Amino acid sequence: MAAILEAKNIKKYFKTPKGTLHAVDGVSFSIEEGKTLGVVGESGCGKSTLGRVLVHLLERTDGQILFEGKDISDLTKADLKNVRQNMQMIFQDPFASLNPRQSVSEIIAEPLQIYRRVSSKADLEKQVLELMDTVGLARRLANSYPHELDGGRRQRIGVARALALNPKFIVCDEPVSALDVSIQAQILNLMQDLQEERNLTYLFITHNLSVVKHISDEILVMYLGKMVELASDKDIFLNRLHPYTKALLAAVPLPVYGTEKKKRQLLRGELSSPINPKPGCRFAARCPYAKEQCHQKEPALEEIMPKHFVACHFAREINGI
Ligand code: SF4
Repeated sequence: MAAILEAKNIKKYFKTPKGTLHAVDGVSFSIEEGKTLGVVGESGCGKSTLGRVLVHLLERTDGQILFEGKDISDLTKADLKNVRQNMQMIFQDPFASLNPRQSVSEIIAEPLQIYRRVSSKADLEKQVLELMDTVGLARRLANSYPHELDGGRRQRIGVARALALNPKFIVCDEPVSALDVSIQAQILNLMQDLQEERNLTYLFITHNLSVVKHISDEILVMYLGKMVELASDKDIFLNRLHPYTKALLAAVPLPVYGTEKKKRQLLRGELSSPINPKPGCRFAARCPYAKEQCHQKEPALEEIMPKHFVACHFAREINGI
């Protein structure tokens, strides 16, 4: 199947008083249409910045973004408006991302009005109500305001708004992190149903490994701006090869996958700074397998097993491959 989105060597740096912060540093991947790429890592690893760069909410420092084979790295304002119809974003905190002065129907109607997707007032009302039906929001809530609704319903508004222009690709930035566990499952199921019905492609950003396991086809693991492992969801959970991924998964309570027994392996050592990062592997200060070479030379991302990419000098040795 063809890739709908390709990211090539994406970099996003920020100037700070202390130096240059390498928030995203050379991330490359592709996502097939209708699939979900989960992006995981600790807070501050650059995953949300990556999502924002892809949909042009942040300007990249370097790299190339291809959407449906077309280079969309540098866009004029008019081009950007066109591309935005196909690339939308769902945010973590629905309360913060919704205008408190607008009613539910006004929030959902806004993109339809901006992009002139309606022929009349009656058509607008019809489309808004249909979108509310699609995301499971009762029509009687059309005139309610975000503060009158619970977190789950607010996130349904965010989903309806993202769907309004019938996009092909959605960046979901921690869309269930702010919700109660019972509501999380409802929103995740809704998103999966919508994906199936509309052949949507998701980039799903989360720090929650149970969530990423539930929804992803492939998983990209990031550490301090770098991609350290990329593989199918099954390979990441059953056969992770990078020391950071191993530690990340060992640190959280997950249901046992297959017959695998979980070994606890806590991360020790100090987190390196992403500001003017030192040469070598960014995980070296916390890695139990680090050797001299790790502090001097940055490991390249290599395909260690079929469709399983790892950035570690000693991945083969550590995993007996
Ligand atoms: Fe650990 Fe070295 Fe591999 Fe980095 S390159 S993950 S420090 S063994």
